[in-house]
Amino acid sequence: MNIFELSRKFSTPEKAVKYFESVRWKDGVTCPYCNSDKTCKHQEKEKKRWQCWNCHKSFSVTVGTIFHHSHIPLNKWFLLMALMLNAKKGLSSCQASRDIGIQQRTVWSMMHRIRKAMGTDQAQLLRDIVEMDETYVGGKPRKSNNKDDDDKPSSPRGRGTKKTPVVGMIERGGDVKTIATSKFELKGKDLKKLVRKHVDLEETILVTDEYKGYLGMGGLLAHLSVNHQKTFAEGDVHTNTIESFWAILKRGIIGQFHKVSKKYLQNYLHEFEYRYNRRNVDNSVTFENLLGRACYGK
Ligand SMILES: [Zn+2]
Repeated sequence: MNIFELSRKFSTPEKAVKYFESVRWKDGVTCPYCNSDKTCKHQEKEKKRWQCWNCHKSFSVTVGTIFHHSHIPLNKWFLLMALMLNAKKGLSSCQASRDIGIQQRTVWSMMHRIRKAMGTDQAQLLRDIVEMDETYVGGKPRKSNNKDDDDKPSSPRGRGTKKTPVVGMIERGGDVKTIATSKFELKGKDLKKLVRKHVDLEETILVTDEYKGYLGMGGLLAHLSVNHQKTFAEGDVHTNTIESFWAILKRGIIGQFHKVSKKYLQNYLHEFEYRYNRRNVDNSVTFENLLGRACYGK
């Protein structure tokens, strides 16, 4: 579903509400407060509210979802979600604000709610060939003449910088998993913990570079490393796939968001990860998946 089709399908807030009701309550309307199915459409108030006969509360379809307590019409939320899903390189809140005609500050917080919904992904364990690497994002913009520059040539990979490290694991041809961390959590035991959580230890060959944090990985699972001082690939032993993902992420963050505070970095990671992991999925399927996630909490 492209943006044009979406705006036509949800041309009014009522159409969006009706659709969301069909997604959230596909097995029948249940009260979000007490889970009772003894509900009916509100007769007196506006038509979009429902009444529970069990707890006597009235509710709308947005109660308890990421859209709860928002004064923005649901069809504008849908449009913003679609714009974000389509923006392979990321979408700034300023641009989105112009696109949907809502104040930038409001759009900014809407986008963060959407990113959190994207982050509720219960991804399967990564397997087969999994590349693991870290990168550094955020912090001050690059100043080429600054001697204290974090990106001086002697540390081209950024290890030891003040920026926030992000650890990534990617199944070749499959999904990516990214975690914002701290420079104190890049030790062998921390990295192993992440591998245990996200990788199928029995069915995987892990490929990394020769950073010392990865040295003990062989004790945990099959592990190969590429020496980047000498070469960037020895046959299948390379980290090109995760490097490509870092390129997309960094273009997005530098190009669209300029500066990302550490507090929100994980949310941006959710967004890039969610889009990447659905790169081969039809847009309308992804949109419905995201709406399903939006049903649960902020
Ligand atoms: Zn109830």
